[in-house]
Amino acid sequence: MNSLIIDTTNLDKVLKKIATAVQHYNRDAGSVRLIGASKTRDASVIRAFHEAGLTDFGENYLDEALKKQTLLGDLDIQWHFIGHIQSNKTKLIAQHFHWVHSVDRLKIAQRLNTHKEELNNSTLASQLNILLQVNLDHEQSKSGVRPEELLTLAENVSKLSNIKLRGLMAIPKPRKQFEEQQNCVTRLVTLQQELNQKLGLSLDTLSVGMSNDLEAAISAGSTMVRIGTDLFGQRN
Ligand SMILES: *Cc1c(COP(=O)(O)O)cnc(C)c1O
Repeated sequence: MNSLIIDTTNLDKVLKKIATAVQHYNRDAGSVRLIGASKTRDASVIRAFHEAGLTDFGENYLDEALKKQTLLGDLDIQWHFIGHIQSNKTKLIAQHFHWVHSVDRLKIAQRLNTHKEELNNSTLASQLNILLQVNLDHEQSKSGVRPEELLTLAENVSKLSNIKLRGLMAIPKPRKQFEEQQNCVTRLVTLQQELNQKLGLSLDTLSVGMSNDLEAAISAGSTMVRIGTDLFGQRN
């Protein structure tokens, strides 16, 4: 497909929405990063949005992501892994991503750390940034560490020297009310502040906010929003 015929006008709309919220809620300019949640989208779509100025893309499925990365190897993209992590996939994730948002157990972090150590002698010696996914709503069906187990996990992950713990991620239950959406994100902010205080860390990244709760997330302190539908249209 020719990238000229892919409509990227939604990028400006979403960036404007983010900029407006940043200003309205007195957040620092540039403090919220847009991640294009590009699962199921063709490499040609990613290429067109990259050309339009989007530099960060999040993928949920490793095999799908690797195929697209091969086709887009000429582009300077920051790749984020945002899907559920199976332990047998950690080596390739450590090799092919800059950020991993969905770490929710120590075993996964340890494996990423070991693989990163193996890579550190090679040309792939970039930093692997880690976020811990928190299951804020205690949903049975969802991944994520339970809030009451977060402190122990964060303490152990922060000691791993080949990966860099940067913050927290959440996929809150869809809520209609702005204030409820906001309260959810505030709980995540509070958890992060507690980790920084109790463990002496300087976590600076909160990945929360999707198409339906973007503004509430920014108002409460999100630093990374993961947007699919509002950028690329409805998924099939
Ligand atoms: C699909 C997905 C998104 C984007 O969701 P939209 O509602 O399409 O904006 C964000 N985060 C994760 C983890 C996703 O899987």
